[in-house]
Amino acid sequence: MQFRPRQWFNTFFLTEMLRGMQLTGRYFFARKITVQYPEEQTPQSPRFRGLHALRRYANGEERCIACKLCEAVCPALAITIESDVRSDGTRRTTRYDIDLSKCIFCGLCEESCPVDSIVESRVLSYHGEIRGDLIYTKDMLLANGDRLEAELAADRDADRAYR
Ligand code: SF4
Ligand code: SF4
Repeated sequence: MQFRPRQWFNTFFLTEMLRGMQLTGRYFFARKITVQYPEEQTPQSPRFRGLHALRRYANGEERCIACKLCEAVCPALAITIESDVRSDGTRRTTRYDIDLSKCIFCGLCEESCPVDSIVESRVLSYHGEIRGDLIYTKDMLLANGDRLEAELAADRDADRAYR
């Protein structure tokens, strides 16, 4: 076997281990970047795509006009809409379900909506214990919208500033 002095030197004096310890030592004193989730959270963009919500206008009327664009554009076939005409002649959904176990959070439903009705919020902490728990109904989505409206409106305004 050929004698390689550099290899012999590195093996004998454990230089690779020393270089590794030097790197460890450098990060030992550096500012820590580990986030203690959920007590600490990383910054979120106004465009964050989390839990869905259906929004209302300020007068309490639901925005959704049952055009079904979101249902048509959804690549995961996660949205199911049924609609009817109300007594005042306007069209509204009678059923609006999103199956979050199918959803890939692509944001296309939000992009396609002509009235800013279906949106994705900043909420990322939710769970279901059985599959059905992740099917969000119209009432659940409207409740999300009512609860988060201030933040949803502010995020839409901030986002428009970049367009
Ligand atoms: S975010 Fe994408 S996958 Fe999820 S419901 Fe909307 S369009 Fe469908
Ligand atoms: S949420 Fe928007 S895109 Fe979907 S049916 Fe209602 S109005 Fe149309």
